[in-house]
Amino acid sequence: MTTVTEAEKLILTNAGDFGAEIIPFERSLGRVLAENIKADRDLPPFNRVSMDGIAISYRAIENGITTFLIKATQAAGDIPVDINTPYECIEIMTGAALPASADTVIRYEDLEIKDGKATLLVSNIKKGQNLHFKGADKKQGNLILTSGQLITPAVISLAASVGEAELRVKRNPKVVILSSGDELVEVAATPSPYQIRRSNSYMVQAVLTQQGLDADILHIPDDPGIIKERIQQCLKTYDVLLLSGGISMGKFDHIPQALKELEVKQVFHKVEQRPGKPFWFGKHSNGVVVFAFPGNPVATFMCVQRYFIPWLNASQGILPKRPAYAVLDTDFTFQPQLQYFLQVKLSFNQQGQLLATPVKGNGSGDFANLAGTDAFMELPLAKNEFKKGEVYRVWNHRFS
Ligand code: AMP
Ligand code: MG
Repeated sequence: MTTVTEAEKLILTNAGDFGAEIIPFERSLGRVLAENIKADRDLPPFNRVSMDGIAISYRAIENGITTFLIKATQAAGDIPVDINTPYECIEIMTGAALPASADTVIRYEDLEIKDGKATLLVSNIKKGQNLHFKGADKKQGNLILTSGQLITPAVISLAASVGEAELRVKRNPKVVILSSGDELVEVAATPSPYQIRRSNSYMVQAVLTQQGLDADILHIPDDPGIIKERIQQCLKTYDVLLLSGGISMGKFDHIPQALKELEVKQVFHKVEQRPGKPFWFGKHSNGVVVFAFPGNPVATFMCVQRYFIPWLNASQGILPKRPAYAVLDTDFTFQPQLQYFLQVKLSFNQQGQLLATPVKGNGSGDFANLAGTDAFMELPLAKNEFKKGEVYRVWNHRFS
C-alpha cells in the first residue's frame, strides 16, 4: 500500500500549471501574483507630515523662538504654503506635504494655540520630527511585489497605492466537486429515516473558497452507466475532479472501475492512513487530475487538507508552507499499522508553545466532532505509543 509520504510525492509530481489571467485588483484576495510590480513613484511621494500641528523651520528653535505667528492652514492634499521668517508657522495636518521652507513639525499636544499664534509647551524639539520623508519606504522603480506572492489584504493595499487597478494572477484550475451515493439527499430535502443530507460537497467547496477558488458541485447516483457518463463530461470541462464516496469495497462503489474505463490512469489506490485509507488518485491523458476521496466526511476533509491544498499551492507556484508542529499534551495510543491523523484542538501555553489536545470522536463518519477541532496531528507510522510532550506535525484547518 502507498504510504502518506509516497502519496504526497506522487500528487506533487502531478501538479499542473494553469497559466495566468488579468483580474481587477480588488477581486484578487487569495490569488497568486503572476507579475512583478514596481513602485510608480516614491513611497511616500513627498515629505509627509505625520502629526497634526504646526510646521516650522528648526532655525527658530536654535534661535530660542517659542511663539509662532500662524501664517496659513494647510490640509492634506493642499499645495504647500511657505513661511517667510522663522517667526512664522503653518498649521498643518497629517498627510500634508511639508513646505520647502519648513523642516520640523510640532504636534498640537505640545502647543497652545491662541489669537492666531502657537506657543511651545515643551522644549525637547528635534529637527525633522513628525515627518515621514519622501522615498523612505520605497523608491520609484523599486520592486515592491514579486511574482509567486500570495495576495493578502496588505498586498491589495500596496497594489492600490501604486495604481495597479488590474493584476496578472495565476489562473486557478477549473474544479468540480462530485459527490456520490444514493442515500444522499439535497440539503433542503427531508431525508427518509434511512437517508442523510449531502454535506461533503459543501465542506470541500468551503475549503476551496478559503483558498480563493470557485468550484462547481454535482451529485451522481450509484449507477455505473450514469457515473461513467457524468465523469466523462467533467473530464472535458474541468481541470480537476474532486470526488467523494464510492471508492471502497462496497457493492455500489463503482467509481474506480468507471475511471479505469474512461482511461484515467490510476496513480495510487489506498493509502496507509486513517482516516482516508481508500483514497484514489489518478490522471487522464488529457492532463485532468482526479482526486477520489472516501465518502466518510472526516476522511474527505482530511484528504482535502493534506493532499489537495498542497497540490493546489504547487500548481499555483506558491512555495510550500513551512510545516507547523505542536506539542502533544496527553498520551495517546494507536495500534493499527496506519499513519494516524489525530483530531486536535490547538492552544498556546505560557511559554508560547503550540499545544495539541486530542478531541475524541467516533471515527471518520463523525463529522460533528470536526467542528470542535482545529487541526489534524500527523502521527508517525513507525510508532504506536505517543507520549505527552512529544512534537509532531499538525495540519491546521481552522486558521489556515
Ligand atoms: P462511501 O465512501 O461512498 O462508502 O461512503 C462512506 C460513508 O460516507 C457513508 O456512510 C456515506 O453515506 C457517507 N457519505 C458519502 N458521501 C457523503 C456526502 N457527500 N456527504 C455526507 N456523507 C457522505
Ligand atoms: Mg457511497
